[in-house]
Amino acid sequence: WKFDNSYLNLPRMLYTKVLPTKVRFPELVLLNKNLSESLALNTDYLNSELGSAIFSGNQIPEGAEPIAQAYAGHQFGYFTFLGDGRAILLGEHVTPTGKRFDIQLKGAGITPYSRRGDGRAALGPMIREYIISEAMHNLGIPTTRSLAVTTTGEYINRDKKLSGAVLTRVAASHIRVGTFQYIAQKGSLEELKKLADYTIDRHCPGAKNFVNPYRQLLKVAIYKQAELIAKWQLVGFVHGVMNTDNMTISGETIDYGPCAFMDAYDSNTVFSSIDYNGRYAYGNQPHIALWNLGRFAETLLNLIHKDLTKAKEIADIELAEFPVIFQENWMEGMRSKLGIFNKEEEDSELFSEFLEIIENQKADYTNTFIELTNVRKPQGEMEGNKEFLKWYIKWRDRLSRQSQSKAQSIQLMK
Ligand code: AMP
Ligand code: MG
Repeated sequence: WKFDNSYLNLPRMLYTKVLPTKVRFPELVLLNKNLSESLALNTDYLNSELGSAIFSGNQIPEGAEPIAQAYAGHQFGYFTFLGDGRAILLGEHVTPTGKRFDIQLKGAGITPYSRRGDGRAALGPMIREYIISEAMHNLGIPTTRSLAVTTTGEYINRDKKLSGAVLTRVAASHIRVGTFQYIAQKGSLEELKKLADYTIDRHCPGAKNFVNPYRQLLKVAIYKQAELIAKWQLVGFVHGVMNTDNMTISGETIDYGPCAFMDAYDSNTVFSSIDYNGRYAYGNQPHIALWNLGRFAETLLNLIHKDLTKAKEIADIELAEFPVIFQENWMEGMRSKLGIFNKEEEDSELFSEFLEIIENQKADYTNTFIELTNVRKPQGEMEGNKEFLKWYIKWRDRLSRQSQSKAQSIQLMK
Protein backbone atom coordinates (compact mmCIF):
# COMPACT_ATOMS: atom_id res chain seq x y z
CA TRP A 1 0.00 0.00 0.00
CA LYS A 2 1.02 3.57 -0.53
CA PHE A 3 -1.57 5.60 1.33
CA ASP A 4 -2.14 9.31 1.15
CA ASN A 5 -5.01 11.01 2.96
CA SER A 6 -5.61 14.22 1.04
CA TYR A 7 -9.29 14.31 2.04
CA LEU A 8 -8.14 15.22 5.56
CA ASN A 9 -7.05 18.63 4.21
CA LEU A 10 -10.68 19.50 3.47
CA PRO A 11 -12.88 21.38 5.97
CA ARG A 12 -13.38 19.37 9.16
CA MET A 13 -17.15 19.22 8.74
CA LEU A 14 -16.73 16.88 5.77
CA TYR A 15 -15.48 13.88 7.74
CA THR A 16 -14.95 12.26 11.12
CA LYS A 17 -11.93 10.16 12.02
CA VAL A 18 -13.19 6.74 13.03
CA LEU A 19 -11.80 3.21 13.11
CA PRO A 20 -13.57 0.12 11.80
CA THR A 21 -15.16 -2.02 14.51
CA LYS A 22 -13.21 -5.25 14.88
CA VAL A 23 -14.95 -8.46 13.80
CA ARG A 24 -14.76 -11.93 15.36
CA PHE A 25 -13.59 -14.28 12.63
CA PRO A 26 -12.60 -12.46 9.46
CA GLU A 27 -12.45 -14.70 6.44
CA LEU A 28 -11.54 -13.63 2.92
CA VAL A 29 -14.14 -15.06 0.54
CA LEU A 30 -13.37 -13.09 -2.64
CA LEU A 31 -10.22 -11.35 -3.81
CA ASN A 32 -10.12 -9.55 -7.15
CA LYS A 33 -6.68 -10.54 -8.39
CA ASN A 34 -6.84 -8.52 -11.62
CA LEU A 35 -7.75 -5.37 -9.75
CA SER A 36 -5.19 -6.04 -7.05
CA GLU A 37 -2.49 -6.31 -9.70
CA SER A 38 -3.62 -3.22 -11.56
CA LEU A 39 -3.34 -1.33 -8.26
CA ALA A 40 0.22 -2.71 -7.95
CA LEU A 41 -0.66 -4.46 -4.69
CA ASN A 42 0.99 -7.71 -3.66
CA THR A 43 -1.77 -10.21 -4.41
CA ASP A 44 -0.14 -13.24 -2.78
CA TYR A 45 0.51 -11.24 0.34
CA LEU A 46 -3.14 -10.14 0.48
CA ASN A 47 -4.55 -13.59 -0.30
CA SER A 48 -3.84 -14.62 3.28
CA GLU A 49 -4.85 -14.14 6.88
CA LEU A 50 -3.30 -10.72 6.72
CA GLY A 51 -5.57 -9.88 3.78
CA SER A 52 -8.61 -11.01 5.78
CA ALA A 53 -7.49 -8.82 8.66
CA ILE A 54 -7.06 -5.76 6.44
CA PHE A 55 -10.21 -6.22 4.34
CA SER A 56 -12.39 -6.78 7.41
CA GLY A 57 -11.05 -3.67 9.14
CA ASN A 58 -9.31 -5.62 11.92
CA GLN A 59 -5.90 -4.31 10.88
CA ILE A 60 -5.23 -0.86 9.52
CA PRO A 61 -2.57 -0.82 6.81
CA GLU A 62 0.38 1.48 7.38
CA GLY A 63 -0.23 5.04 6.27
CA ALA A 64 -4.02 4.81 6.28
CA GLU A 65 -5.98 7.32 8.39
CA PRO A 66 -9.57 6.02 8.41
CA ILE A 67 -12.51 8.42 8.19
CA ALA A 68 -16.24 8.38 7.61
CA GLN A 69 -17.32 11.00 5.09
CA ALA A 70 -20.19 13.40 5.64
CA TYR A 71 -22.69 14.14 2.89
CA ALA A 72 -26.30 15.06 2.36
CA GLY A 73 -28.72 13.84 -0.23
CA HIS A 74 -32.12 14.01 -1.79
CA GLN A 75 -33.56 10.57 -1.06
CA PHE A 76 -36.60 9.95 -3.26
CA GLY A 77 -36.79 13.72 -3.60
CA TYR A 78 -36.48 14.61 0.11
CA PHE A 79 -33.41 16.37 1.45
CA THR A 80 -31.55 14.76 4.40
CA PHE A 81 -28.16 15.05 6.06
CA LEU A 82 -26.38 11.71 5.84
CA GLY A 83 -22.82 10.42 5.79
CA ASP A 84 -21.04 7.08 5.72
CA GLY A 85 -23.19 5.14 8.14
CA ARG A 86 -21.49 1.84 7.50
CA ALA A 87 -18.54 2.64 5.28
CA ILE A 88 -15.08 3.73 6.36
CA LEU A 89 -12.52 5.21 4.00
CA LEU A 90 -9.06 3.84 4.76
CA GLY A 91 -7.42 6.46 2.59
CA GLU A 92 -6.22 7.02 -0.95
CA HIS A 93 -3.89 4.42 -2.41
CA VAL A 94 -1.51 5.96 -4.93
CA THR A 95 -0.17 3.60 -7.61
CA PRO A 96 3.39 3.74 -8.97
CA THR A 97 2.04 5.61 -12.01
CA GLY A 98 0.57 8.26 -9.72
CA LYS A 99 -3.10 7.26 -9.95
CA ARG A 100 -5.11 7.87 -6.79
CA PHE A 101 -7.86 5.50 -5.62
CA ASP A 102 -10.11 5.63 -2.57
CA ILE A 103 -10.00 2.36 -0.63
CA GLN A 104 -13.20 2.02 1.37
CA LEU A 105 -14.54 -0.71 3.64
CA LYS A 106 -18.31 -1.03 3.30
CA GLY A 107 -19.99 -2.71 6.27
CA ALA A 108 -17.11 -1.87 8.63
CA GLY A 109 -19.15 -0.86 11.69
CA ILE A 110 -20.92 2.16 13.12
CA THR A 111 -19.81 5.74 12.61
CA PRO A 112 -21.18 9.07 13.85
CA TYR A 113 -23.45 9.01 10.77
CA SER A 114 -25.03 5.60 11.42
CA ARG A 115 -28.28 7.00 12.84
CA ARG A 116 -30.25 3.90 13.86
CA GLY A 117 -28.27 1.55 11.58
CA ASP A 118 -25.91 -1.17 12.77
CA GLY A 119 -23.06 -0.15 10.47
CA ARG A 120 -22.99 -3.62 8.96
CA ALA A 121 -23.66 -5.25 5.61
CA ALA A 122 -24.91 -8.70 4.69
CA LEU A 123 -22.92 -11.16 2.58
CA GLY A 124 -25.50 -11.46 -0.24
CA PRO A 125 -25.69 -7.75 -1.13
CA MET A 126 -21.89 -7.35 -0.88
CA ILE A 127 -21.37 -10.23 -3.32
CA ARG A 128 -24.00 -8.66 -5.58
CA GLU A 129 -22.13 -5.34 -5.52
CA TYR A 130 -18.90 -7.20 -6.31
CA ILE A 131 -20.40 -9.08 -9.26
CA ILE A 132 -22.36 -6.22 -10.79
CA SER A 133 -19.64 -3.61 -10.41
CA GLU A 134 -17.13 -5.94 -12.06
CA ALA A 135 -19.65 -6.73 -14.83
CA MET A 136 -20.17 -3.01 -15.42
CA HIS A 137 -16.42 -2.42 -15.54
CA ASN A 138 -15.94 -5.18 -18.07
CA LEU A 139 -18.83 -3.79 -20.14
CA GLY A 140 -16.81 -0.57 -20.39
CA ILE A 141 -19.06 1.38 -18.02
CA PRO A 142 -17.40 3.71 -15.48
CA THR A 143 -17.92 2.31 -11.99
CA THR A 144 -16.42 1.88 -8.58
CA ARG A 145 -14.68 -1.51 -8.36
CA SER A 146 -14.66 -4.30 -5.82
CA LEU A 147 -11.36 -5.56 -4.46
CA ALA A 148 -12.47 -8.05 -1.83
CA VAL A 149 -15.28 -9.47 0.24
CA THR A 150 -14.68 -10.86 3.72
CA THR A 151 -17.16 -12.43 6.08
CA THR A 152 -17.05 -11.27 9.68
CA GLY A 153 -17.98 -14.45 11.51
CA GLU A 154 -20.85 -12.48 13.05
CA TYR A 155 -24.56 -12.50 12.32
CA ILE A 156 -26.50 -9.36 11.58
CA ASN A 157 -30.22 -8.87 12.10
CA ARG A 158 -32.34 -8.00 9.08
CA ASP A 159 -35.69 -9.74 8.37
CA LYS A 160 -33.77 -12.77 9.52
CA LYS A 161 -30.24 -13.52 10.72
CA LEU A 162 -27.69 -13.05 7.94
CA SER A 163 -23.93 -13.45 7.67
CA GLY A 164 -22.11 -10.16 8.10
CA ALA A 165 -19.62 -9.13 5.42
CA VAL A 166 -17.34 -6.29 4.42
CA LEU A 167 -16.79 -5.18 0.83
CA THR A 168 -13.59 -3.37 -0.11
CA ARG A 169 -14.56 -0.74 -2.63
CA VAL A 170 -12.14 1.08 -4.92
CA ALA A 171 -13.20 4.41 -6.42
CA ALA A 172 -11.77 7.41 -8.26
CA SER A 173 -13.25 9.22 -5.25
CA HIS A 174 -16.37 9.13 -3.13
CA ILE A 175 -17.25 12.79 -3.75
CA ARG A 176 -20.98 12.85 -4.42
CA VAL A 177 -23.52 15.45 -5.45
CA GLY A 178 -24.57 15.05 -1.82
CA THR A 179 -21.07 16.04 -0.60
CA PHE A 180 -21.53 19.43 -2.29
CA GLN A 181 -25.08 19.69 -0.94
CA TYR A 182 -23.73 19.10 2.57
CA ILE A 183 -21.10 21.84 2.51
CA ALA A 184 -23.30 24.26 0.57
CA GLN A 185 -25.86 23.99 3.41
CA LYS A 186 -23.55 23.84 6.41
CA GLY A 187 -20.38 25.62 5.35
CA SER A 188 -19.17 29.04 4.25
CA LEU A 189 -18.48 30.01 0.65
CA GLU A 190 -14.76 29.66 1.39
CA GLU A 191 -15.30 26.06 2.58
CA LEU A 192 -17.42 25.20 -0.43
CA LYS A 193 -14.69 26.61 -2.65
CA LYS A 194 -12.14 24.31 -0.97
CA LEU A 195 -14.23 21.26 -1.87
CA ALA A 196 -14.76 22.51 -5.43
CA ASP A 197 -11.04 23.18 -5.92
CA TYR A 198 -10.17 19.78 -4.47
CA THR A 199 -12.66 18.09 -6.80
CA ILE A 200 -11.25 19.96 -9.78
CA ASP A 201 -7.73 18.83 -8.86
CA ARG A 202 -8.86 15.23 -8.59
CA HIS A 203 -11.31 14.92 -11.46
CA CYS A 204 -10.89 17.72 -13.99
CA PRO A 205 -7.60 19.57 -13.46
CA GLY A 206 -8.00 21.14 -16.89
CA ALA A 207 -10.82 23.29 -15.50
CA LYS A 208 -8.25 25.48 -13.74
CA ASN A 209 -7.22 26.91 -17.11
CA PHE A 210 -10.70 28.27 -17.79
CA VAL A 211 -11.87 31.79 -16.93
CA ASN A 212 -14.65 30.20 -14.87
CA PRO A 213 -13.31 26.91 -13.43
CA TYR A 214 -16.53 26.17 -11.49
CA ARG A 215 -18.66 26.45 -14.60
CA GLN A 216 -16.19 24.04 -16.19
CA LEU A 217 -16.50 21.65 -13.23
CA LEU A 218 -20.28 21.66 -13.74
CA LYS A 219 -19.88 21.16 -17.49
CA VAL A 220 -17.56 18.18 -17.05
CA ALA A 221 -19.83 16.56 -14.43
CA ILE A 222 -22.83 16.98 -16.74
CA TYR A 223 -20.88 15.52 -19.66
CA LYS A 224 -19.71 12.50 -17.67
CA GLN A 225 -23.16 11.75 -16.29
CA ALA A 226 -24.83 12.06 -19.70
CA GLU A 227 -22.28 9.60 -21.09
CA LEU A 228 -22.70 7.28 -18.11
CA ILE A 229 -26.49 7.17 -18.14
CA ALA A 230 -26.50 6.54 -21.91
CA LYS A 231 -24.32 3.49 -21.22
CA TRP A 232 -26.68 2.28 -18.49
CA GLN A 233 -29.67 2.61 -20.80
CA LEU A 234 -27.88 0.74 -23.59
CA VAL A 235 -27.21 -2.34 -21.45
CA GLY A 236 -30.56 -2.17 -19.64
CA PHE A 237 -29.04 -1.38 -16.26
CA VAL A 238 -31.42 -0.09 -13.60
CA HIS A 239 -29.60 1.52 -10.67
CA GLY A 240 -32.62 1.42 -8.39
CA VAL A 241 -31.77 4.26 -5.99
CA MET A 242 -30.52 7.33 -7.85
CA ASN A 243 -30.55 9.62 -4.82
CA THR A 244 -28.17 12.58 -5.03
CA ASP A 245 -25.96 10.89 -2.43
CA ASN A 246 -25.59 7.97 -4.84
CA MET A 247 -24.27 10.09 -7.74
CA THR A 248 -20.54 10.75 -8.00
CA ILE A 249 -18.87 13.81 -9.49
CA SER A 250 -16.21 11.53 -11.04
CA GLY A 251 -18.87 9.97 -13.29
CA GLU A 252 -18.52 6.48 -11.83
CA THR A 253 -21.56 4.35 -11.05
CA ILE A 254 -21.77 3.99 -7.27
CA ASP A 255 -23.74 2.23 -4.54
CA TYR A 256 -25.16 -0.95 -5.95
CA GLY A 257 -28.26 -1.58 -3.91
CA PRO A 258 -31.39 -3.11 -5.39
CA CYS A 259 -30.01 -2.74 -8.93
CA ALA A 260 -30.31 -5.21 -11.81
CA PHE A 261 -30.30 -5.65 -15.56
CA MET A 262 -33.74 -5.51 -17.12
CA ASP A 263 -35.04 -8.71 -18.71
CA ALA A 264 -38.23 -8.02 -20.71
CA TYR A 265 -38.00 -4.55 -22.23
CA ASP A 266 -40.24 -2.22 -20.26
CA SER A 267 -39.40 1.40 -19.57
CA ASN A 268 -41.34 1.19 -16.29
CA THR A 269 -39.01 -1.46 -14.84
CA VAL A 270 -38.24 -0.74 -11.17
CA PHE A 271 -36.02 -2.76 -8.83
CA SER A 272 -36.24 -0.99 -5.51
CA SER A 273 -39.06 -2.43 -3.42
CA ILE A 274 -39.70 0.96 -1.81
CA ASP A 275 -39.86 2.89 -5.10
CA TYR A 276 -43.68 2.99 -5.15
CA ASN A 277 -43.96 5.79 -7.70
CA GLY A 278 -41.38 4.48 -10.16
CA ARG A 279 -39.20 7.55 -9.60
CA TYR A 280 -36.12 5.47 -10.44
CA ALA A 281 -37.65 3.34 -13.20
CA TYR A 282 -35.45 2.43 -16.19
CA GLY A 283 -37.06 4.96 -18.51
CA ASN A 284 -36.82 7.72 -15.92
CA GLN A 285 -33.08 7.46 -15.27
CA PRO A 286 -32.00 10.20 -17.72
CA HIS A 287 -34.55 12.63 -16.24
CA ILE A 288 -33.46 11.84 -12.70
CA ALA A 289 -29.79 12.25 -13.58
CA LEU A 290 -30.59 15.71 -14.95
CA TRP A 291 -32.65 16.52 -11.85
CA ASN A 292 -29.71 15.49 -9.64
CA LEU A 293 -27.33 17.60 -11.74
CA GLY A 294 -29.70 20.53 -11.19
CA ARG A 295 -29.16 20.04 -7.44
CA PHE A 296 -25.39 19.96 -8.05
CA ALA A 297 -25.58 23.16 -10.12
CA GLU A 298 -27.48 24.89 -7.29
CA THR A 299 -24.61 24.24 -4.89
CA LEU A 300 -22.15 25.90 -7.29
CA LEU A 301 -24.15 29.05 -8.11
CA ASN A 302 -22.26 31.35 -5.73
CA LEU A 303 -18.97 30.19 -7.19
CA ILE A 304 -20.10 30.48 -10.80
CA HIS A 305 -21.07 34.16 -10.61
CA LYS A 306 -21.51 36.86 -7.95
CA ASP A 307 -24.79 37.87 -9.56
CA LEU A 308 -27.21 35.03 -8.81
CA THR A 309 -29.39 35.69 -11.85
CA LYS A 310 -26.36 35.45 -14.13
CA ALA A 311 -25.18 32.32 -12.29
CA LYS A 312 -28.54 30.66 -12.87
CA GLU A 313 -28.47 31.57 -16.56
CA ILE A 314 -25.04 29.98 -16.91
CA ALA A 315 -26.10 26.84 -15.03
CA ASP A 316 -29.20 26.51 -17.22
CA ILE A 317 -27.11 26.76 -20.38
CA GLU A 318 -24.89 23.94 -19.12
CA LEU A 319 -27.80 21.77 -17.93
CA ALA A 320 -29.46 22.15 -21.32
CA GLU A 321 -26.50 20.25 -22.79
CA PHE A 322 -27.39 17.09 -20.89
CA PRO A 323 -30.18 15.82 -23.18
CA VAL A 324 -28.07 16.61 -26.24
CA ILE A 325 -25.01 14.72 -25.00
CA PHE A 326 -27.17 11.88 -23.71
CA GLN A 327 -28.94 11.52 -27.05
CA GLU A 328 -25.70 11.59 -29.07
CA ASN A 329 -24.15 8.89 -26.91
CA TRP A 330 -27.27 6.78 -26.84
CA MET A 331 -27.69 6.97 -30.64
CA GLU A 332 -24.06 6.04 -31.15
CA GLY A 333 -24.45 3.07 -28.81
CA MET A 334 -27.67 1.93 -30.47
CA ARG A 335 -25.98 2.08 -33.87
CA SER A 336 -23.24 -0.17 -32.54
CA LYS A 337 -25.70 -2.60 -30.98
CA LEU A 338 -27.40 -2.89 -34.37
CA GLY A 339 -24.21 -3.10 -36.47
CA ILE A 340 -24.54 0.37 -38.02
CA PHE A 341 -21.40 2.36 -38.81
CA ASN A 342 -22.67 5.47 -40.61
CA LYS A 343 -25.30 8.02 -39.60
CA GLU A 344 -28.67 8.47 -41.27
CA GLU A 345 -31.44 10.91 -40.43
CA GLU A 346 -33.99 8.10 -39.99
CA ASP A 347 -31.92 6.11 -37.47
CA SER A 348 -33.78 7.45 -34.46
CA GLU A 349 -37.06 6.30 -36.01
CA LEU A 350 -35.58 2.85 -36.69
CA PHE A 351 -34.53 2.57 -33.04
CA SER A 352 -37.76 3.85 -31.52
CA GLU A 353 -39.81 1.47 -33.69
CA PHE A 354 -37.61 -1.39 -32.54
CA LEU A 355 -38.06 -0.53 -28.87
CA GLU A 356 -41.80 -0.04 -29.26
CA ILE A 357 -42.18 -3.48 -30.80
CA ILE A 358 -40.12 -5.29 -28.19
CA GLU A 359 -41.89 -3.38 -25.42
CA ASN A 360 -45.30 -4.45 -26.78
CA GLN A 361 -44.09 -8.02 -27.10
CA LYS A 362 -42.38 -7.98 -23.69
CA ALA A 363 -39.34 -9.46 -25.42
CA ASP A 364 -36.08 -9.84 -23.52
CA TYR A 365 -33.97 -6.73 -24.14
CA THR A 366 -30.44 -8.18 -24.25
CA ASN A 367 -31.41 -11.52 -25.77
CA THR A 368 -33.16 -9.81 -28.67
CA PHE A 369 -29.89 -8.05 -29.56
CA ILE A 370 -28.01 -11.32 -29.17
CA GLU A 371 -30.35 -13.06 -31.60
CA LEU A 372 -29.92 -10.24 -34.11
CA THR A 373 -26.14 -10.56 -33.66
CA ASN A 374 -26.44 -14.26 -34.44
CA VAL A 375 -28.13 -13.20 -37.71
CA ARG A 376 -31.23 -15.10 -36.75
CA LYS A 377 -34.71 -13.79 -36.94
CA PRO A 378 -35.63 -13.57 -33.27
CA GLN A 379 -37.40 -16.54 -31.79
CA GLY A 380 -39.61 -16.72 -28.73
CA GLU A 381 -41.82 -13.69 -28.18
CA MET A 382 -40.89 -12.25 -31.57
CA GLU A 383 -41.37 -15.32 -33.73
CA GLY A 384 -43.92 -14.70 -36.47
CA ASN A 385 -44.59 -11.14 -35.28
CA LYS A 386 -45.57 -9.21 -38.44
CA GLU A 387 -44.54 -5.80 -37.08
CA PHE A 388 -41.19 -7.16 -36.16
CA LEU A 389 -40.67 -8.84 -39.51
CA LYS A 390 -41.33 -5.51 -41.23
CA TRP A 391 -38.83 -3.84 -38.95
CA TYR A 392 -36.31 -6.65 -39.54
CA ILE A 393 -36.41 -6.10 -43.30
CA LYS A 394 -35.99 -2.35 -42.81
CA TRP A 395 -32.98 -3.00 -40.60
CA ARG A 396 -31.37 -5.36 -43.13
CA ASP A 397 -31.86 -2.67 -45.81
CA ARG A 398 -30.26 -0.17 -43.48
CA LEU A 399 -27.21 -2.43 -43.08
CA SER A 400 -26.81 -2.62 -46.86
CA ARG A 401 -26.49 1.17 -47.04
CA GLN A 402 -22.96 1.20 -45.63
CA SER A 403 -19.63 0.10 -47.02
CA GLN A 404 -18.78 -2.30 -44.18
CA SER A 405 -19.35 -6.04 -44.62
CA LYS A 406 -21.85 -8.15 -42.74
CA ALA A 407 -18.98 -9.71 -40.77
CA GLN A 408 -17.84 -6.24 -39.68
CA SER A 409 -21.38 -5.42 -38.56
CA ILE A 410 -21.55 -8.58 -36.48
CA GLN A 411 -18.20 -7.77 -34.91
CA LEU A 412 -19.47 -4.31 -33.98
CA MET A 413 -22.69 -5.72 -32.54
CA LYS A 414 -20.72 -8.14 -30.40
P1 AMP B 1 -27.89 3.80 0.58
O1 AMP B 1 -29.35 3.95 0.30
O2 AMP B 1 -27.40 2.40 0.71
O3 AMP B 1 -27.05 4.61 -0.34
O4 AMP B 1 -27.67 4.39 2.06
C1 AMP B 1 -28.19 5.61 2.49
C2 AMP B 1 -27.57 6.01 3.83
O5 AMP B 1 -27.90 5.06 4.84
C3 AMP B 1 -26.08 6.13 3.80
O6 AMP B 1 -25.71 7.24 4.55
C4 AMP B 1 -25.63 4.84 4.44
O7 AMP B 1 -24.37 4.96 5.04
C5 AMP B 1 -26.72 4.60 5.47
N1 AMP B 1 -26.85 3.16 5.81
C6 AMP B 1 -27.30 2.17 5.03
N2 AMP B 1 -27.27 0.98 5.68
C7 AMP B 1 -26.79 1.24 6.92
C8 AMP B 1 -26.50 0.43 8.07
N3 AMP B 1 -26.71 -0.90 8.09
N4 AMP B 1 -26.01 1.05 9.17
C9 AMP B 1 -25.80 2.37 9.18
N5 AMP B 1 -26.04 3.17 8.14
C10 AMP B 1 -26.53 2.63 7.02
MG1 MG C 1 -25.51 5.47 -0.75
